[in-house]
Amino acid sequence: MQIINPATEEIILELQGTSKAELGSILASLREGQKSWSQKPIEERLECIIRFGELIKENVNALAEILTMETGKPLQQSLNEIKGAQNRVEHLRQNAKKWLAPETLVASGSTHEKIAYEPLGVIANISAWNFPYNVGYNVFLYGLAAGNSVLYKPSEFASLTGKQFEKYLWQAGIPENVFQCVIGDGSLGQQILDADLKGYFFTGSHRTGLHIAKAVAHKLVPVQLELGGKDPLYIMDDVSDVKQAAINAAEGAFYNNGQSCCAVERMYVSEKIYDEFVAAFVAEVKSYKIGDPTSLEIFVGPLTRKQQIKVLENQVADALNKGATLLCGGKVIEGKGYYFEPTVLIYCNHEMDVMKEESFGPIIGIQKVSSDKKALELMADTNYGLTAAIFSNDEQRALHLLNQLNVGTAYWNCCDRVSPNVPWSGRNNSGVGSTLSTQGIRAFVQPKSYHLRR
Ligand code: NAD
Repeated sequence: MQIINPATEEIILELQGTSKAELGSILASLREGQKSWSQKPIEERLECIIRFGELIKENVNALAEILTMETGKPLQQSLNEIKGAQNRVEHLRQNAKKWLAPETLVASGSTHEKIAYEPLGVIANISAWNFPYNVGYNVFLYGLAAGNSVLYKPSEFASLTGKQFEKYLWQAGIPENVFQCVIGDGSLGQQILDADLKGYFFTGSHRTGLHIAKAVAHKLVPVQLELGGKDPLYIMDDVSDVKQAAINAAEGAFYNNGQSCCAVERMYVSEKIYDEFVAAFVAEVKSYKIGDPTSLEIFVGPLTRKQQIKVLENQVADALNKGATLLCGGKVIEGKGYYFEPTVLIYCNHEMDVMKEESFGPIIGIQKVSSDKKALELMADTNYGLTAAIFSNDEQRALHLLNQLNVGTAYWNCCDRVSPNVPWSGRNNSGVGSTLSTQGIRAFVQPKSYHLRR
């Protein structure tokens, strides 16, 4: 497999992918390792995870450089991601023991009743490239803490980062037969689906997620899917600081080049503040520094995947054909690297792909709205259900709308945010199941009920 730097289009490295035979022997060793790993006291398992967190912290600069080189993520954002994902380790340190402890529900009378939480066994973690630290940690750290062995397949666009996880997990004391990172693209993913695993934890596109759900349905094992979104943001007419709202909204749309599952993907702006908001929004977007992602000054780097350029070009052309106006950007930046200009389209409507299909790039469509009712109708007009955000001075007014939306996460005066304290989950085409929080660890265990007659 060739690893290509998306900023320079140079081949960084050629890696040998994992063969079918290797996958078979890796799975056999993970099955063996899981037996003793699950028997270790939770404190010992957590010690390894905490040590892993420390190793990542000690090596943050080198790891950020690898992430930037492989995905084109601007260096400051790579550093932010690696530091930010540490809160998963801390959260597990504080809570995992409590969450995994057996619960006694009836401790008097003739029959006592309790629940024990047992690991699933060897699980697969098939991952995406856009936030490899965040989405990897959300699955494999929680899965390991719960006593599972993990077969980790990073995206083919984040293979080097995946190998770093493996190196530091092993250094931290996680046995080699408890965590293994395999290298390959969708064809290796397919072999993993065909193999005998006790759970499938996937982060990626709706298309692949649906395929996985169908392919493994007959196994009757847990399948968790963290998929894409078309997340809306509504700016109400009562925001006190329109300029600040525009700056925050632009960050939500363009951070990581718009390649976040919970990026703001479409915006609705009240007609009362529309002109002021759009002017401030475009001024902010035009101020972004674009270029070499290894520079700490840069906010917008290249796209990670060349093929996404076509998707963005098609969305721009489709919107312009259907009556949108381009306020900035709209095309590829000539030269080396997969750069696309940060793009703002106005006069958008729901006939346009840019308001309906995931863009996953530096492009945003804006639509003017005349009422909360109209905004709610448009926000709800999607097959996805990951997040929705509202900026407003009035919490009750915002919550009145957010409560009616079929999404896993609702934001008031913030967006594009994940916290280990609360579940991360999608609805409809955004997936099933939850990572993070108590529910995120329960995803990696199976309850066993005890009825103990005395
Ligand atoms: P993708 O679906 O193209 O690939 C994801 C993973 O699936 C990769 O490891 C890939 O090799 C593997 N894969 C591909 N075909 C497969 C097959 N037939 N069988 C098994 N595995 C296969 O997605 P991507 O481009 O890596 O990620 C981007 C998508 O992920 C976006 O839609 C984004 O919104 C979503 N995402 C969601 C979340 C979330 O938490 N909801 C987080 C990050 C990214």
